[in-house]
Amino acid sequence: MTKIEKIFDFLDQKFPNAHCELNYSKDYELLIAVVLSAQATDKSVNLVTKKLFETYPTLLSLASSHPEDIEKIIHSVGLSKTKSKNVVSLSKELIDRFDGKVPSSRLDLMSLPGVGRKTANVVRIEYFKIPEIPVDTHVERVSKRLGLAKEGDDVLEVENKLRRKIPKERLIKAHHQLIFFGRYLCKSQNPLCKECPLKDLCKVYKKLALKSK
Ligand code: SF4
Repeated sequence: MTKIEKIFDFLDQKFPNAHCELNYSKDYELLIAVVLSAQATDKSVNLVTKKLFETYPTLLSLASSHPEDIEKIIHSVGLSKTKSKNVVSLSKELIDRFDGKVPSSRLDLMSLPGVGRKTANVVRIEYFKIPEIPVDTHVERVSKRLGLAKEGDDVLEVENKLRRKIPKERLIKAHHQLIFFGRYLCKSQNPLCKECPLKDLCKVYKKLALKSK
């Protein structure tokens, strides 16, 4: 069994229904939720987007709003000054440049305020079901721990390595499973190594075991 098969056999058993945990009902709501999720948990984003999309129920109402008013609602997710400006600007640009529809092209998405490569890729896989492997903090950490990427690799190198190693047809599921694995088991601090059957592949576990000898 290859390393990839071993990892995803386990993840298929452990997280068969891994999915995006951001709440949304419209394309622009997903885009805004992903923009707000930078350095914030999905749970904290869901709390503020509920109020945000109730207060401003259309893209036009968001585009016509004042960043200071948005900031009051999204304050708890952090970086709220920048994020509130981006929410208003990207809403305006979606209306002005894209007829009010979130574009599927990565370049078009990345031309919007506050939208980087990871955000664009999340929208592409979640809304448009285009095979991508967005690399967030969880995906980067667990990929390096499991030896799918090297410690010194930057985010784009990790993405390219995962894209080469994981079969295209399971990239979307793999993305969600790696996030769940990092979020609930292979945590940044205090990973639950006792429950993990991937110890023999893990660089961190080997180092911890050597230290404790
Ligand atoms: S052994 Fe621990 S650190 Fe290594 S992959 Fe498993 S949970 Fe993560």
